[in-house]
Amino acid sequence: MHISREMVYLDFAATTPVDPRVLEKMLPFFSKEFGNTSSIHPYGQSAEGALENSREILAEYLDCNPGEVLFTSGGTESDNLALRGVAFAARQKKNANHILVSSVEHPAISKTAQQLHALFGFDVEWIPVDRFGMVHPEAVASRIRPETAIVSVIYANNEIGTINPIEEIGLICRERGVAFHTDAVQAAAYLPVDVERLNVDLVSIGAHKFYGPKGAGALYIRKGTPFIPMQTGGSQESGRRAGTHNTPYIVGLSEAFLLANEERSERVKQARPLRDELIGMILEEIPESQLSGHPEERLPNHASFVFKNVDGNSLLTDLGIRGFAVSSGSACKTGNPEPSEILLSTGLEREWAIGSLRVTTGVSTTPDQINKFSSILPGIIERNRTLRRQS
Ligand SMILES: *Cc1c(COP(=O)(O)O)cnc(C)c1O
Repeated sequence: MHISREMVYLDFAATTPVDPRVLEKMLPFFSKEFGNTSSIHPYGQSAEGALENSREILAEYLDCNPGEVLFTSGGTESDNLALRGVAFAARQKKNANHILVSSVEHPAISKTAQQLHALFGFDVEWIPVDRFGMVHPEAVASRIRPETAIVSVIYANNEIGTINPIEEIGLICRERGVAFHTDAVQAAAYLPVDVERLNVDLVSIGAHKFYGPKGAGALYIRKGTPFIPMQTGGSQESGRRAGTHNTPYIVGLSEAFLLANEERSERVKQARPLRDELIGMILEEIPESQLSGHPEERLPNHASFVFKNVDGNSLLTDLGIRGFAVSSGSACKTGNPEPSEILLSTGLEREWAIGSLRVTTGVSTTPDQINKFSSILPGIIERNRTLRRQS
């Protein structure tokens, strides 16, 4: 489908465009510097140099050693690798069979946990959340067992924007000697991902959520964490993830991560007032509307709502026609009227959860775009409710 010039993109939590500065860094590695990082000759050495430089950039901002950074094909692979790699290693090493995951994880974690249960017999326990979708440290502490293999709690939620108390949860896991993973794919765009401060053993990030390329990500694995590789073959990534390196994308990931870290304070300063203005206007103008997720502990560019008795899918379609690209927040596709599990886990009733809307801003979003959006939304919601009552 053709994208018109007038279209306003407010779905930066789904993906972001590649920053031109990032693209520029990537380009030589498609052509002139195309070497295989494993080759001994200068072509290989030049690619290898770019690879290790990228690893150092990530290590600097993650506050870890370069050897603890593993490159992957994106957030989904990093999440899979963390959960599977550690669960199988813990089972092998100490017969651990228990996996603790929050009930607000991205499908890359929740579906993986479900499969580890269904096909591999792991005992998966879901940590409940409060009405803001937040995981409380006590809820983790009371569920850790001697046979717990891994705990996984999302840093900032993609659907509802809530930021979890990762530092505190990490301390509990460390005291109890359990590996702790956080999915920071959404968080990394706006929050520091400092593994020492966060007390984490594994962290997933993905480049396309912070103006890097799709299909590039990384997994931090703290030295000494028991881990079994899931992809075997060559000795890339110290044998922890085989396969010829995707050098241009890795370079793009590291440049995008560098910029996200260096420009964080400006990006936060730009995003927060837009978010707050949007939330204020929508809650004031639209009857039977609620913010979903946490009112304060939320991503600075993330506004998410539920509207009672509104069909979320037709809402998105109507907004698309009016020139706004937004999301319901969940991966739910048109035609599937099921409310999101994340919203239900916060205790929302079905008639509310079905009418969800996520508006996420980016570095190019202007106050004018937010004003236009806020001014057309009330009419669209009203019409949606009227049509729904008639059908
Ligand atoms: C986007 C996202 C993922 C998946 O990352 P990909 O790079 O798209 O595979 C995982 N977790 C969260 C929280 C995300 O927002």
